[in-house]
Amino acid sequence: MSNCIFCRIVEGSIPSVRIGENDAAVAFMDIRPIQPGHALVIPRRHVENVIDMEPAEYDDVMRLVHQIGRAIDAEWKPPKVGLAVIGFDVPHAHVHVLPLIKTSDITSGRILDGTLQMAPVEELQRTGALLRQRLV
Ligand SMILES: [Zn+2]
Repeated sequence: MSNCIFCRIVEGSIPSVRIGENDAAVAFMDIRPIQPGHALVIPRRHVENVIDMEPAEYDDVMRLVHQIGRAIDAEWKPPKVGLAVIGFDVPHAHVHVLPLIKTSDITSGRILDGTLQMAPVEELQRTGALLRQRLV
């Protein structure tokens, strides 16, 4: 869908700090990170909800989520690596993968209420490069 920001990121017509991909999934840094290292993993195909994915797409998305999560854990050694699927903001299925320092990092509503600050692109490139080198 040409009016979907995540489809345009997949196509490359909107820039992103891409950190990984496979046949059906793409991972890039969230521009409004809750914590440094906050990434998004999305299916290449436009589907609104994660349950709309075909099983093989879901497997590719979750395999990339697993790789990114392990890279986050290796790089920042947070108390937890959290996953969240919400999706009220952008109607293209996406999985948040991020270091969790405290429970409220992912439950506070900051992820949706618009109070998260955009990170400078240099910071996203720096944290994205750290994750890319950790991917195996
Ligand atoms: Zn889309």
